[in-house]
Amino acid sequence: MQRRTFLRSLGIATTAGLSAASVPVAGQPDGDDGYGPVDLDAGPYRTNEQVTEELKLLDRTSDRITLTEIGRSAGRNDPLWEVKLGEGDTSVHIIDQIHGDEPTGTEVSLLMIRQLSQGTSPETEEILENLSLTFIPRSNPDGAMYREDTTGDGHEQRVSRRQNTQPWCECDSRYEPYYNYGTPAGYDMNRDFNIDPGFDATPGVDDEADWWRAEETDDGGTEWYMDQPREGHVLRGSGLRLTEEVRAITDSFLRADPDVAISHHHQNVATVPDEDEESDPQRSLLSTMPVYGPAYEDQAPFADPDAPVADNVNPFIDAETSARSLRLNQLVGEALADQPWDAFDTVTRFGYFPIWGDYFDALCPLTDAAAMLYEVSGQSDQVGDESYGLYLEATRIGYMETFSALAEDPQLSDVDEEAYFETPLVGPSLEEVEDADRASLEGLGQVGGVALPR
Ligand SMILES: [Zn+2]
Repeated sequence: MQRRTFLRSLGIATTAGLSAASVPVAGQPDGDDGYGPVDLDAGPYRTNEQVTEELKLLDRTSDRITLTEIGRSAGRNDPLWEVKLGEGDTSVHIIDQIHGDEPTGTEVSLLMIRQLSQGTSPETEEILENLSLTFIPRSNPDGAMYREDTTGDGHEQRVSRRQNTQPWCECDSRYEPYYNYGTPAGYDMNRDFNIDPGFDATPGVDDEADWWRAEETDDGGTEWYMDQPREGHVLRGSGLRLTEEVRAITDSFLRADPDVAISHHHQNVATVPDEDEESDPQRSLLSTMPVYGPAYEDQAPFADPDAPVADNVNPFIDAETSARSLRLNQLVGEALADQPWDAFDTVTRFGYFPIWGDYFDALCPLTDAAAMLYEVSGQSDQVGDESYGLYLEATRIGYMETFSALAEDPQLSDVDEEAYFETPLVGPSLEEVEDADRASLEGLGQVGGVALPR
């Protein structure tokens, strides 16, 4: 989807002096082609077969793991794996790589599963005793292993892409939703969730004709959004549960009944906003994001006081869950700042607003789950090996710190939720900083953040 349409659909005004179309979006090349494939070459990320081999090996060598195939991907018919560990009262649900070109979370979850299934440290024991962990290490196997002859030499390269590869069919829903795009077509699965876990989009079954809104695109086409009413609110751009992967992830979530939900992503090469115009732009290694409700609406960075509450925050997330979500994110920022490496002092805040088809906004209200979004900076083809190591380590520290802290105190009472809002909002992308002249950057730096999709 094009960014301009995205912002318009959410009723979000862009920052002054900044053309929406000029803001690069994670995974989205310049131009009008939408999200393009990402060339992984011989990169450090495992193939679907290698993920399966690793999980089966760990399952064979440890009786702490329950490994379940919960579905198959639409295109390649590759398994969608769920891994369960631990028997504690606090449940944590983790999904990685729902965008196929965002693979670091998968690698970290495999590390975590290995450590927790074989480790003997007191920390491991405490985690397994107090937590029930559910991992879906690779949520989009088709996007992860999308293949294309990018060099035109007749040999396909291993490339990845954001969407899966499932085309829309007229038998699926009343209209083709905006989040199916690309050639070949596929769904952005982090737009396919619905707050009603039984929602069935079969034409005319659950949706009403007047829920649908058409938006004209810049090139004269039409995009369809389903604006679903619920308890006096309108959930704009709700997902239709058209992908088997999303239905399987939703079922896994409901079985886990989580207190905490984590989803891992990559964003563009983001910067830390800097008011000192003379210094070089500093890269932000990681942005984090909680999900919250009306209790924090006045602190939501893109909230419009004249807009309905469901456009600004999630009205189904209560104050207690909202505060826990803020503490969860703050905890990880503090843990990274405590590390001796300067690169870990660059955590920024990914500005929250509801996206009604995403994992968090649709599912967290169902179990009062506190949410934490990871957005490591840079797609897998934008940065080198050093960055891969940093992503891996920053995420590993984040996951481990989260598990240890929750094992000790599920409420994370020692963390100050309000401190999260002191984290700087993520700045413009490095590419944009380098391209733009200083006059236009000044405004960007001050605003410190644009409404990025996740
Ligand atoms: Zn993503």
